Amino acid sequence: MEISDEKIKEFQEIYKKEYGKELSWKEAAEGARSLLGLAQIAYDSYKEDCFRKRKLKDHPKGFHLDDGKTYSCRICRESISNEQTWWDEGGIKCLHCQKALDKKIIPKSVCKDDESWYATWEFDYYFKIKSPTVRKLVRQGKLKSRTVPNINGGEHFELFLIKDNIGVLPEKPESYLVKDEQDRVHVEYKDVDVSKLLQ
Ligand SMILES: [Zn+2]
Repeated sequence: MEISDEKIKEFQEIYKKEYGKELSWKEAAEGARSLLGLAQIAYDSYKEDCFRKRKLKDHPKGFHLDDGKTYSCRICRESISNEQTWWDEGGIKCLHCQKALDKKIIPKSVCKDDESWYATWEFDYYFKIKSPTVRKLVRQGKLKSRTVPNINGGEHFELFLIKDNIGVLPEKPESYLVKDEQDRVHVEYKDVDVSKLLQ
């Protein structure tokens, strides 16, 4: 993506005004280029979204994204493409998760609000509770899960709604950014009390 000298100069000036730091020409050129790249990505997704929303008027129940691209189901995160995909106002889902939504085995809020539920892997990610322990807690009746059936039989995915486990399952921990000695930034999570879960 080519950027004019004028735009680079402009980026230099805006940066100085906003952050009080003088950027070299090279830094400003790189900054302007990545900003433009981000804007392009945002614009492309916006265009795609508008196109899908228009199509939804003719197909109110949703449709396959048959553009050959690989997507990931926003619930189970499985990689899917073409006839394996389903798109409606809840976003991109695999057919297993879509059917579970249609049959109200899982609520629509699962698509809209990632904070309202946990996947099994998130117990390890946030609380270092491994999946055999999660399974044990389900068996003991301490945790209530919802199971997305596989459309060909069997189980596809298991999830845990906070509203099904009130007083047991905490809200998802708040995140914050931490900088290490090499100035690299990573995400950490505030400690959350999971003692009720493991009692
Ligand atoms: Zn899925």
